[in-house]
Amino acid sequence: MQKIYDVIIIGGGPAGLAAASYAGRARMSALMIEKAKEGGQIVITSDIENYPGCIEGETGPSLIKRMSEQATRFGAEKIIDTIEEVELEGETKHLKGQKGEYFAKSIIIATGAHPRPIGCPGERELTGKGVSYCATCDAAFFEDMDIYVVGGGDAAVEEAMYLTNFGRSVTIIHRREELRAAKSIQEKAFANPKLHFMWNTVVEELRGDGILDSMTVKNTKTGETTVIDAPEEDGTFGVFVFIGFDPHSELFIDKLEMQKGYIITDDNMHTNIPGVYAAGDVRVKSLRQVVTATADGAIAAMQAYKYINE
Ligand code: NAP
Repeated sequence: MQKIYDVIIIGGGPAGLAAASYAGRARMSALMIEKAKEGGQIVITSDIENYPGCIEGETGPSLIKRMSEQATRFGAEKIIDTIEEVELEGETKHLKGQKGEYFAKSIIIATGAHPRPIGCPGERELTGKGVSYCATCDAAFFEDMDIYVVGGGDAAVEEAMYLTNFGRSVTIIHRREELRAAKSIQEKAFANPKLHFMWNTVVEELRGDGILDSMTVKNTKTGETTVIDAPEEDGTFGVFVFIGFDPHSELFIDKLEMQKGYIITDDNMHTNIPGVYAAGDVRVKSLRQVVTATADGAIAAMQAYKYINE
């Protein structure tokens, strides 16, 4: 006989871990299912400065480690599996994973989002071979080399600043002539002598035989294209892409109400199906930060508690 959990949480990022902590603390039987490694996007973030109460020098991995230990301490179970099918209607929700099947009275979807690719030729083939979406993971490969960062938001500018600790030079390639990043982040960036800017520019193609060694960029105003080759002595350079995120919501298409791929919830994280909640970056919201993800997770867990007790 399969166990029926009070709540199953899909996803082990900040929203999922907060939901697991709150559910465990409320003495619900809770299972958190993560497909790879706990932490979600935040484990690829080098510095966390704005999570309330975070310690100096906090990184994504250090914060996630403590969140994860806390969820375990409160009794939440965790498992690694990839969910491939969901049945959300009815009193008992049913999830089919690659390793097993899971049943619960309520579900919290905290599947987050993944980095958006540029979508240009060569990007996919050269990912991990010069093209990266994670400065913390890959910065050290480009010690004293040229590094390019694509994007103009908070992530691009903050990660570019972090990358100046490694690269000979770091150039932000942005499609407009004004950054989207917060003014305080911009001020630090403009004061950094190792950081350069290529305005009104997009990456058209990435090339390399086994390793990135050339790219074509285009000026969006003049249409002029420029080829950037790796310096001969380096043989390569780094391209780090931070142009936003796309939600992990494919499993719920035609099952839950969505807007541009993000799950629609009310202020209490309820989706359109009773007993099914969404928390964190996968849902429609105005601010996607760790602090809002953990708040969503807490609210979703408490709503699930109310739902199963009613
Ligand atoms: P974002 O704020 O959506 O910025 C994406 C950037 O990439 C924008 O500058 C955008 O250009 C550019 N872009 C989008 N699609 C592009 C494309 N196809 N080609 C070239 N450029 C493209 O994304 P984010 O920086 O990843 O941040 C996501 C969320 O996390 C935001 O809410 C942000 O505030 C938050 N965040 C906060 C912090 C912090 O507070 N310390 C750190 C990281 C992230 P345009 O400007 O022209 O649209």
